[in-house]
Amino acid sequence: MIILMFFGNMKFGKYILFFGIYLICTYYVVPRVAPLFGREPLITSKSIVSQSLFYRLTNRNYVRPEMNVLLRDIASEFNKNYPEAQIVCLDANFPFINKFPLLPHLSHNDGKKLDISLMYALHGNLTNKKPSISGYGVFEGPRSREYNQIDRCKTKGNWQYDIQKYMTFGSVNEDIKFSEIGTKALVDAILKQPSVGKVFIEPHLKHRLGLKHEKIRFHGCQAVRHDDHIHLQLK
Ligand SMILES: [Zn+2]
Repeated sequence: MIILMFFGNMKFGKYILFFGIYLICTYYVVPRVAPLFGREPLITSKSIVSQSLFYRLTNRNYVRPEMNVLLRDIASEFNKNYPEAQIVCLDANFPFINKFPLLPHLSHNDGKKLDISLMYALHGNLTNKKPSISGYGVFEGPRSREYNQIDRCKTKGNWQYDIQKYMTFGSVNEDIKFSEIGTKALVDAILKQPSVGKVFIEPHLKHRLGLKHEKIRFHGCQAVRHDDHIHLQLK
């Protein structure tokens, strides 16, 4: 029994040691090495936050320095009309190696891509709360008369198109509702920035929000649906 406890503790000790080394690498080593690959961690502030510690702990929060400048400019534009609103960041990129995708996002492989949350309202007022713990997977789907890109892609055999539904980590804040006004204001603030290359949002939301801009593109059926988040990328 004592021998079993000893070996049990050794195993537990190994986990603690591994986790400790992992944390040191994540918080101290990786941020210092990433600039060699032209990347740095997302810079958060009162107006720019990460949806969850998960992204930091898994090193999915790295971008090129220009993306941090872009985010700061988007936030300052967005906050002119909504001073309390926050840009909530989701998946960005890994810290190293171009062309190494951040699954399930095939294109998040060069430090130029970032996903951010849609905006929601609580009792008619804009809120920074989101409907899932991860920030992904609770969709603002097409209404009955809206164009349904999701059905088209799934019918074509692109089974992965709504794969985020398995990645919510749980639904929360069920009393919040999608904010058309807030999301449109956020997309407009993004589109005002010259360094933005492309923005992806699901076609039915693009139409519902009256968004017309050449930088808003359809991401293709090989990607994942974009009615739970907005994708933006640098030129
Ligand atoms: Zn994306």
